[in-house]
Amino acid sequence: MIIWGSGGDIVPLGAAGTQHCATCESAREFRDVLNYRYAHVWYLFAWVTEKAYVTACSVCGRGVRHDSKAFEAKLGRTPIPAYRRFGGLVLLGLVATVVLAGMLAGMRSNVREDALLQDPRVGDVYTVDLQEMAPGSFDGHAYGLMRVVAVDTGTVSLEVPNVGYNKLSGASGDLDKQAREADYYSGEVLSYPRPDL
Ligand SMILES: [Zn+2]
Repeated sequence: MIIWGSGGDIVPLGAAGTQHCATCESAREFRDVLNYRYAHVWYLFAWVTEKAYVTACSVCGRGVRHDSKAFEAKLGRTPIPAYRRFGGLVLLGLVATVVLAGMLAGMRSNVREDALLQDPRVGDVYTVDLQEMAPGSFDGHAYGLMRVVAVDTGTVSLEVPNVGYNKLSGASGDLDKQAREADYYSGEVLSYPRPDL
C-alpha cells in the first residue's frame, strides 16, 4: 500500500533589523523566514512542492516575499534538510533499479531459451502454441508441452501432447511432473526443420 501526504515547515533565518511595518503602522523587528511545503511517499521519500523566502514582521507576520533563486544565492545554501529535498529522487532511483533488474533478468532468460533452442536434446520439453505447431489438432489457440524425441542435423521431432490449455500457465504447470510420463503424449510425432523452432 502506498501511503502519501504532504507537510510544511518554517525555518527561521535570522534577524533582518528594525523596519517600519505598514500593517502594524509602527517600527517592528523583522526576520528572514523560509516557508516551504513538501509532499512525501511513505514519509521517507519527500520532495519540495513550494517555498517562499520572506522578510516578515515579527508581530503581524506580514512582509516582503523574495525571489527564491536570488535569495538562496545570497544565503549560499538551501536551508531545507536533504531528506525533504532529495528523498523523492532516491525513490525514483530505487524504482528505476527494480525495473532495470527485471529487464535484465528477462533478457537473461531469453538468452538461455535461445541457447536451449539452438541445441535441442532428446527429452527436452518445450512449451509451445499448439495452434502454430500442429494446426487443426486443437480447437483454436492452445498452449501445451511437446517433447523432443529425435534430433538430427536438419530436423527436430516433437511428440504431440494429449492436452492443451488456453493459458500459458496451464501448460507450464505440467512441466514438473506429467510431462515426464509417456502417456502424457498422444504418440503422434511431428518433425520441424531446425531453423523454424
Ligand atoms: Zn507588523
